[in-house]
Parts: sequence; C-alpha cells; structure tokens
Amino acid sequence: MTHRVAVLDKELCQPKKCGLECIKYCPVNKSGSDCIILNEQIKKAQISEDLCNGCGICVKVCPFDAITIVNLASELATDKVHQYGVNSFRLFKLPAPTKGEVIGLLGRNGMGKSTVINILSGNLKPNLGRYAEPPDWDEILKYYSGTELKSHFEKIKEKQIKSSIKPQQVYNVAEAFDGTTKELLEKFDERGVSRELVKELGLENSLENNLKELSGGELQRLAVAVATSKDADFYFFDEPSSYNDVFQRTSVAKVIQGLAKIGKSVMVVEHDLTLLDFLSDYIDVLYGESAAYGIVSNVLSTKVGINVFLDGYLPNENVRFRDKKFTFNASASTTEEFQKGDEVISYPLLEKKYPSFSVSIEPGTISKGEVLGVMGANALGKTTMMKMIAGVEKPDSGKIDKKIKIAYKPQYLTNDIDVEVESVLDKANETPIQG
Ligand code: SF4
Ligand code: SF4
Repeated sequence: MTHRVAVLDKELCQPKKCGLECIKYCPVNKSGSDCIILNEQIKKAQISEDLCNGCGICVKVCPFDAITIVNLASELATDKVHQYGVNSFRLFKLPAPTKGEVIGLLGRNGMGKSTVINILSGNLKPNLGRYAEPPDWDEILKYYSGTELKSHFEKIKEKQIKSSIKPQQVYNVAEAFDGTTKELLEKFDERGVSRELVKELGLENSLENNLKELSGGELQRLAVAVATSKDADFYFFDEPSSYNDVFQRTSVAKVIQGLAKIGKSVMVVEHDLTLLDFLSDYIDVLYGESAAYGIVSNVLSTKVGINVFLDGYLPNENVRFRDKKFTFNASASTTEEFQKGDEVISYPLLEKKYPSFSVSIEPGTISKGEVLGVMGANALGKTTMMKMIAGVEKPDSGKIDKKIKIAYKPQYLTNDIDVEVESVLDKANETPIQG
C-alpha cells in the first residue's frame, strides 16, 4: 500500500502564464472530482493528496515543472514529523541526539537537514504533519513516548535545552559581525575555551583581522570555534569541513569529537565521507526527493551508514533510494600504462611575490585528456598557481605557453551581481541555452 505525496513549487507555479494544464488533464478531475483546483486565495494550484491516484499526468503537462508526485509506503504516513503546509515539503522520522556521541547525518541537500536542525534545536515545533491544526506539546510527547526523542523534547518544552549551531554559510557570519576574530570569540566564549580552540584550529594569525578579511577556511574554523565555545547541551555542525585542507579538517574533527568526550550531544552534516568516517560514532542517512520530502533512516554504524549511502540501498528498510551505486574505479593510470595526450600548456619556473607571501612553481606541462591533481595544505600557493595558469594573475617571472582557451572556476564565489541565472549561463556558454 502507498500514500501520495503531492508537492507544488509555489515559485514555479504560474497560473497566469500557463493554460491550467494540470487542472484540465487530471483524470480524477475529468471524472468529476476536485483533485487539482486553483486556490483563489493564493492564486496557485492545489492538489488533494486523498483524491490523487498518482498517475503523474499533471507532472508531465505542467509547462513550468512545478509539481512533484511521489508514492510512498503507507507505513511512513505515521512517521511524519513535520509538514510546512498544503502540498509542501515534509519530513519523516528524526535522528535522536545522544549524549557523548557524534551522530553524522549523510544525504544530499534539500532533504530536510534544516528542518531537522530547527526541530532538534527547539526553533521549530514539530507538527506531526498537522499543519492546519498543530498538536500541543503534550500530544507531541505522547507521540514520542517510549523513544529516545521523548526526553529531548521534554527538555525543549521546559526550555532546559540550549543548542549551539555552526551554520552552513560561513560568509553570513562575516556579514553579520563587524569586528575581529578575537572580538567574536570573546563575545561567545561561555566555556572559557577560546585560547585552546585558537591553537587547535590554527587561528593564531587571524586573531586581529576583521572577519571580512578572513579566507573561507579561516572563517569556517572560526565558526566552528564559536559554536564549540558556547555552553550548550546540543551542538550541530553544518558542513564544518568546507574550504579547509585535510590537516585543518582533521583539527576541526578533533575539536568536534572533544565535545562528545565531555558528554555533549553532537550532530554533524558533512559530505566528506572520509571525515564523517573519522568523526562519527553513528550515521543516519537522509534520503528523499529534493524540496518534496525527506526521510531519516534508522541509526546505523558509521561503516554501514557510509556503505548504505554509496549503495543507494537501505537493506533493513528494503528501500532503494538511488538507482545507481557510487563506485570508485581505480584510475586508468594505476591499472594500465597512461597514454599521454598532446601537450596543451607548458610553463617554465613561475614566480609571484606579494607583500607578505611569495610562491615559486617548478616548470610543468598539462596535456589533453588528463586530470592533473594539485595537492597541498592551504596557504601554500595552490590558488596563485591556478590563477597564473588560467591567466587571471600575471606571474612576475615566467611566461605560460598555452594553445587553448581556459575556463576557470574560482575557490570563493560571490553573488553580488543582480542578474538571472539563465543570463549568466548564456554568457558563459556564448550561445543561449535551450530549454
Ligand atoms: S501547476 Fe503548472 S499547469 Fe498547474 S497551474 Fe501551476 S503552472 Fe499551471
Ligand atoms: S498525479 Fe494524476 S491524479 Fe494526481 S493530481 Fe496529478 S493528474 Fe491528478
């Protein structure tokens, strides 16, 4: 048995610009019922999940791809934790924070990570799917009775739980605070641990710098330090490894593990599987359909959780959540003799000097058909090397011989231009993108 999930992307639904195809062609509507209607109040389509038979015709005929219809196992209907509104995103099941342990959350973006964070930190009261008539705390506690989550929610209800969250977007931290690294740390250091954290996370040289001058890696480690220094019961780290090299990632992981060692409940969302393997005591896999629904798996050992994620299959629940497995093939260069293609770039010794930093790159070549990896700790000149080869920075000495046009993706992204995505892609593509 299945139950229907019908989600409408309200931004994409534009009844004034379409021919109301979803309403016209729905077979249930044709038989005289109101399965899809135009909600006159909000001027958007509205789908009745009780009447919908899941045929998917509306999904195909909508010119703006605004509808998602999914058939889910009916047992899941009783596991609904939260739904934002009619035809909106919903989350099924929750991971349980555990004292003294690091729980890793593994899954693609758009599966409800923010909903999980907001519910477990007490910022969002779970409505168990009843968005029109939300339950009170007594009902919620009754629903969770006999589970590990009950005591967590009891503490949230009594306002006895304090949470500390390291946000995903660390650049927002720099936008929100006008001051130095030292000032920010002093402001939030409720546990008196900022000195050690500065050492452990290698922030000594950025203490006097304004946050706006910090690199992405420094900002990331500062955000981890700030979240760690708060005196909380529940700590949540959202993608703590981004922008950092392997040594810095290891330091971040050790700091996070330190919280579990002193008995705190810790949860980490991370896409770096190696780091998650190193860091987590257990894993919950988050799967579903982006912006439509998310399901949290039962708790798994770290190794099993990572393998389940790579396989796209949960054996205990007998659920395949991805058609394909992720497999890592040994590269051709390790299994057979590598056939070098024609040389497309060659460079002599390249040198570049800045007021406080200089870099020199040994001569090298890049050939057609090869992927050349550049490894090394942050702040050793990898970006300068890439910029010089791409022609973004001019070397002080050494001329690059290149026979090709180069596309360059920078390390740090800014979105300070007010244009539509399509026009940026058209410009990069040099001809308009169709479809
Ligand atoms: S869902 Fe698609 S077809 Fe239906 S009203 Fe919205 S834009 Fe039109
Ligand atoms: S999936 Fe089929 S039955 Fe359901 S709303 Fe769309 S067209 Fe109607």
